[in-house]
Amino acid sequence: KKSDINKLKDYLWEIPMSFRDDMKVPARALAVESLLDDIIEDRSLSQLVNVATLPGIQKASLVMPDVHEGYGFPIGGVAATRYPDGVISPGGIGYDINCGVRLLTSTLKIDDVRDKIEALSKEMYAQIPSGMGKGGHIILSEEQMNHVLTTGAEWAIENGYGIHEDLTYIENKGKLMEADSSMVSEMAKKRGTDQLGTIGSGNHFVEVDYIDKIYDEDIAKAYGLENRQMVVLIHTGSRGLGHQVATDHIRIMMNAMAKYDIKLKDRELACVPFNSKEGQNYFKAMCAAANYAWCNREVISWEARKAWGTIFGEAEANLKLLYDVAHNIAKIETYTISGKQQKVIVHRKGATRAFGPGFEELPQAYKNAGQPVIIPGSMGTCSYVLAGTEKSKDITFGSCCHGAGRRLSRTAAKKEVNAPVLKEKLKERGIYIQSGSFKGIAEEAPIAYKDVNLVVETVHASGVAKKVAKLKPVAVIKG
Ligand code: 5GP
Ligand code: MN
Ligand code: MN
Repeated sequence: KKSDINKLKDYLWEIPMSFRDDMKVPARALAVESLLDDIIEDRSLSQLVNVATLPGIQKASLVMPDVHEGYGFPIGGVAATRYPDGVISPGGIGYDINCGVRLLTSTLKIDDVRDKIEALSKEMYAQIPSGMGKGGHIILSEEQMNHVLTTGAEWAIENGYGIHEDLTYIENKGKLMEADSSMVSEMAKKRGTDQLGTIGSGNHFVEVDYIDKIYDEDIAKAYGLENRQMVVLIHTGSRGLGHQVATDHIRIMMNAMAKYDIKLKDRELACVPFNSKEGQNYFKAMCAAANYAWCNREVISWEARKAWGTIFGEAEANLKLLYDVAHNIAKIETYTISGKQQKVIVHRKGATRAFGPGFEELPQAYKNAGQPVIIPGSMGTCSYVLAGTEKSKDITFGSCCHGAGRRLSRTAAKKEVNAPVLKEKLKERGIYIQSGSFKGIAEEAPIAYKDVNLVVETVHASGVAKKVAKLKPVAVIKG
């Protein structure tokens, strides 16, 4: 109920620890008031309160303005637990490990190529395999799979599916060192054998956009963005492999919890101490799945580049990677908590890392600008490029939103939307949708999502990220 929520400051709301005896920290939501009214409607805040009871949780359990309910944890959630004995929970990362987004930039302006967009959408659809469970062109041997799991995006580059320069522009350079392929089950590897370079179903996409508005000239320049410029936005993750890793380890943790004396309100929050054997095994498997996802997005970029080369000529096959960032992942990071420097395990589930200027991992060109944050909106509205800030560290453990966030369930969206009509209407507006299924289009219709402008306004006004540019879609490849 709204009366249980206090306003902490502008855009930040809190359910205090007095709300339920088992809370170890308060639960906080970053939102403008009108979004908060939406958020109260589903189970996301009660899930957020459950998260506030996790062993070792620090400071507060948090949700971003694009929050909606998810498996155990809300999607759009951030939870930091004490390193090394606080818990790690697969539900706080999500089934699609290292689902994330990347943005590639071109040298073309939309006004010069309008008449080629439909052909481009068809060529990209032909080059990039999409759809649920759909396989791609690469079939990995056992040895190759282990390489992908340990080296991530590097594997794609070494095998001719990527550009070496890209690595600089990927979070963690597209490879988490803690990955251990022996912690990934045979079943998970089997599901991943032929899925590199594929986008999967529904919510995942490859989209062509153009820059519709620049908010911050200096940062846009550092990122290489200009008004009217065409860009490619890619959203997908670790496919069946990551899903199987989550499934396997949730099952293991559910059985192991009693041993560590962990009792939870909701079994979906299944977790174990990070430094336990089960916790370490999951973390190593999660890192391996994250590497698979980075490799996947690198191969998809290669496919997209090929399509651009076919339509616009060889020079345009060199789409430049602006950045690639995860929004379903756990990371070990250091924050000042109660005046002390402390290492924590930050779970981001439907939340994007948003580190500010000076962060050592950033490529030189972005050092003063801060880390690029890429926020998809919907196929019919718009998306955003933001820049992370120093302030995000104080408020949200260096995180911000990851999208507009679902407003309607998939079932509700399917009932409300006539997909063939929507596809025609978008075409009249110059947006070409290519999809194997009308079901996918209906579930992902713009009305299924919240107002991305309002979500982005919240993170901008609260200071956890800065608006840099607005993107408008012209071609969307969907599963
Ligand atoms: P999720 O990772 O939670 O599945 O999705 C992230 C966000 O992607 C959603 O919250 C939604 O705002 C956005 N999104 C879903 N479909 C599309 C699309 O076709 N195009 C764009 N630009 N954004 C989308
Ligand atoms: Mn995903
Ligand atoms: Mn995602």
